[in-house]
Amino acid sequence: IVHWSPFIQQFKKYRYPWIQLAGHQGNFQAGGPGSVLKKCDFREQQAFNGLMQDLLRPFVPEYRGEVVKNTEKYLNLQDLLLEFESPSVMDIKMGVRTYLEEELEKARENPKLRKDMYKKMIEVDAEAPTEEENRDKGVTKARYMQWRDEISSSSTLGFRIEGIKKSDGDSSKDFKTTHTRSDVENAVRCFVGDNHTIPIIGSSLLFVHDKSGKANIWMIDFGKTVGISEGLTITHRTEWREGNHEDGYLMGVDNLVSIMEEITNS
Ligand code: ATP
Ligand code: MG
Ligand code: MG
Repeated sequence: IVHWSPFIQQFKKYRYPWIQLAGHQGNFQAGGPGSVLKKCDFREQQAFNGLMQDLLRPFVPEYRGEVVKNTEKYLNLQDLLLEFESPSVMDIKMGVRTYLEEELEKARENPKLRKDMYKKMIEVDAEAPTEEENRDKGVTKARYMQWRDEISSSSTLGFRIEGIKKSDGDSSKDFKTTHTRSDVENAVRCFVGDNHTIPIIGSSLLFVHDKSGKANIWMIDFGKTVGISEGLTITHRTEWREGNHEDGYLMGVDNLVSIMEEITNS
């Protein structure tokens, strides 16, 4: 059973089951009025501090500071679902890869075989492990991370669907192997429904709309958002080669926009 709603969000006239489409169960809690609490990650906190001073501020949840609850640190974030009435929500993870180059390096330095990742791999595709991996019943973390981006649409389209929850209750997190453009398009079409007038502008991760026609897109999830080293520039579109730090974010946006246009025009 998939647990979509870790808690009921409630204050004044608002009361609704909060929807969490990705991430670990237990990472989120109800916050104060109109806020949610997300477990604090130092990198993400730094990213939010930067974003609150940045041109991108209107496109991300407002960061309302740090909160400590039961000795655990949380980021106090604007709840993006507040304004919506029984919304449909879609989480799209952007980029041609979903890990930092530093993580890949670290995973290589420590080529420990992971049995848990081997298990997750064969659950999705029994044919995926090599003979050697089958013998060891383990895979390295680096290998697992790359494999995940390759079986989804991340490596080819520059984004992948993490989860969709529709207002009618229909929902899925099972997009791990949604790989081809037409599979992705069908899933997005299903999320958009008959509402072809939803404005899709610019880039993002969290898509929300409801039957009143209200719709918005926000960039969320900055746990792996870091500044690039001095002297380096990236286009967010050029092909990723290890060392160039390209993330394919804008390439993913281009593909997403083109898929949305196709849906709107058909
Ligand atoms: P992962 O890194 O595995 O993707 P995470 O723990 O970093 O997960 P997020 O991706 O930030 O968590 O968020 C998980 C889900 O919670 C999103 O898919 C979305 O449904 C919901 N969510 C996150 N932030 C907000 C917000 N500010 N308002 C409303 N919903 C949110
Ligand atoms: Mg996420
Ligand atoms: Mg994250």
